[in-house]
Amino acid sequence: MARKCIGCGKPIGGVLGAIGTKLFYGEVCLSCNKKLKDIMGYQYLTPTQVNDIISNRVQKQDVKVESPFFNSGSSGTNDPGANKASSADEIRKYKELLDEGIITQEEFDIAKKRLLGL
Ligand SMILES: [Zn+2]
Repeated sequence: MARKCIGCGKPIGGVLGAIGTKLFYGEVCLSCNKKLKDIMGYQYLTPTQVNDIISNRVQKQDVKVESPFFNSGSSGTNDPGANKASSADEIRKYKELLDEGIITQEEFDIAKKRLLGL
């Protein structure tokens, strides 16, 4: 139940613990966050990717982030009506992420626009 940095494994949280930054797949401590944050969409790095970057197994510029916000989306849904219904659900999900502070207002707006096809 103790929260740990997915980069270096340092405990996060609690009175004596380090302050962490919440990413999509877990939390990282501030020093790991510093190494990650110049990567586009670093919030969506998987724990494995985070670990590889922190331990210098991969170069930051070689890391490819899989994210709903930075992938320009799948093409060709042939039922726009059905697509719209699921968009609302998606937006709701992103709103939760926004409320939890996992994504920023700006990212939420981008996702929303994309989902609404604006
Ligand atoms: Zn760390």
